[in-house]
Amino acid sequence: MYIVSGCLAGLCCRYDGGDNADERVMQLVSEGKAIPVCPEQLGGLTTPRPPCEIVEGKVLSDQGEDVTELFWRGAEEALKLAKLAGSKKAILKARSPSCGIGKIYDGTFGGNLIDGDGLFAAMLRKEGFELETE
Ligand code: SF4
Repeated sequence: MYIVSGCLAGLCCRYDGGDNADERVMQLVSEGKAIPVCPEQLGGLTTPRPPCEIVEGKVLSDQGEDVTELFWRGAEEALKLAKLAGSKKAILKARSPSCGIGKIYDGTFGGNLIDGDGLFAAMLRKEGFELETE
C-alpha cells in the first residue's frame, strides 16, 4: 500500500485550491493500492491558504505567519494514517514544504531550490519509508 500526496491523487488540497493530478497516482488510488493524504489539511490549515516555506527550521507563510505547529500536527496525523494502513512506501509531491523529497524551496519565496525534505517527507524517511516523487 502506498501513501500518496492528496494533490497528486486529484484532490483540490493545494495551497491555491488546485490539484497536481498525476495519472499514475490516480490509477494506484482507483485500484485500491494507495491512500491519499494532505498533511497540511490534516494540520487544520485552510484551503486555499497562503504559500509557506521552511525558513531556518520554522514554517512561515509569505506574510511571515509562523505555522510550524500546524505543519507538524498535520504531518503526525498523516503518519498515523500511513501506519494504520501498514504502508512503507510513499509517492509525494515534489518541492512542497510538507511533501517535498530531496529538494524544497529555500525560504525566500523566490522560486529557488535547496537540498532538503518537507516536514512530512522527513518524518516518513525517519520511519524507514521508501520515498519517491511524482
Ligand atoms: Fe499536496 Fe502535500 Fe501540499 Fe497537501 S501538503 S497540497 S498533499 S503537496
